Amino acid sequence: MSTESQWPYRLLAPGPVPVPKAVLELMHDKVLHHRTPAFEKFLIDAWSGLQHVFGTKQPVQIICGTGSAAMEAAVVNLLSPGDQVLVVVSGKFGERWAEMAERGGAKVTRWNLEWGQPADPTELSRRLKENPSYKMVFSQACETSTATLHPVREMARVVRRDSNALFALDAITAAGCLPLPMDEWELDVVIAGSQKAFMIPTGLSFIALSERAWATAAGARMYKFYLDLTAEKKANAKGETHFSTPTPLVIGLAVVLNRMRQVGIDRIYKRCDLLAEVTRHFGARLGFEVFSASPSPSVTALKLPDGIDSAKLRDELEKEYNITLMGGQDQLKGKIIRVGHMGDVRNEDMIALFEALSELMEARTGAKFNNEFKAFRGEMAARLSQVEPLFP
Ligand SMILES: *Cc1c(COP(=O)(O)O)cnc(C)c1O
Repeated sequence: MSTESQWPYRLLAPGPVPVPKAVLELMHDKVLHHRTPAFEKFLIDAWSGLQHVFGTKQPVQIICGTGSAAMEAAVVNLLSPGDQVLVVVSGKFGERWAEMAERGGAKVTRWNLEWGQPADPTELSRRLKENPSYKMVFSQACETSTATLHPVREMARVVRRDSNALFALDAITAAGCLPLPMDEWELDVVIAGSQKAFMIPTGLSFIALSERAWATAAGARMYKFYLDLTAEKKANAKGETHFSTPTPLVIGLAVVLNRMRQVGIDRIYKRCDLLAEVTRHFGARLGFEVFSASPSPSVTALKLPDGIDSAKLRDELEKEYNITLMGGQDQLKGKIIRVGHMGDVRNEDMIALFEALSELMEARTGAKFNNEFKAFRGEMAARLSQVEPLFP
């Protein structure tokens, strides 16, 4: 058994993700004031890089607050108390949309899906036709708690075709991981977060509204002050932010976005796909099953064999191998582990994870999983090197 000291720290969670060294160094070079020409350059780069990743001509705003702040901004800028909304609840984050809208006084209908199942566009259509009063439909692109990808493009089409509702998408574990062109797919609200595909620390979130969502925002009456997107839009049009800004985070963001554009967004999608594919394939060889019926390229949930507690496995990974990943929540507590594929995951991190898992699974089942790992290690390394990581 390896000792702690032999294992450098590896972060393989579905957010926060590792921050590339080059980015960390630039972020901490110095602190710029947020109203200076030197900082403005980074801000403008960040805005335009976000538009590129979101696939939109609309402004993408930077909110100082984690992903949930952008979710709340969507709710309070687009709804009035009493509005009827439909929320796709397929896990923890869908439930968060529902609670937020309820707290603001909206009348929420939860469309509860079995965990691990994607939304069915035909059923969405039926629900929208049944109640023409819905003002908005809220969903995740990828429900991170179950690592399930929803058929976003089809859902957006159905919402346009069969209702007058706006379609708001929490794309926090999708934007920057898989194609999600906002304008082309006619998405009304798209949200992302700094600590996921944008590979900087937690603390910023991003939001863009479609033209018709901006029109709705003009009449929405829920309380807002700090999260008033219309006020922020006015400031942004002058090249400024409405309030102070954590400049190191924005500088890191600009550097990452420039790099993303330089290597090409398609290569980043390919890299996510590859990491997910490798995790599913070699996970099966260590006795894990893929949990979701619609697995996401951004995060994989692996189901453990009966009788093995994922919380304890995770604990040992952390303590003995210095590797952080996530377990399951609520009904999936103790049943799954979740491995993130976003950001700057290195090949050696993946190989170390599988080595550690093979040892832990061997200790629990008696099966020769470590031999199995040694047998596939070369093949795994070869597959991983098909698409290089984002940063050298
Ligand atoms: C991470 C995440 C969030 C945001 O959570 P915060 O803790 O507020 O950053 C929201 N939705 C999804 C799907 C996520 O994966």
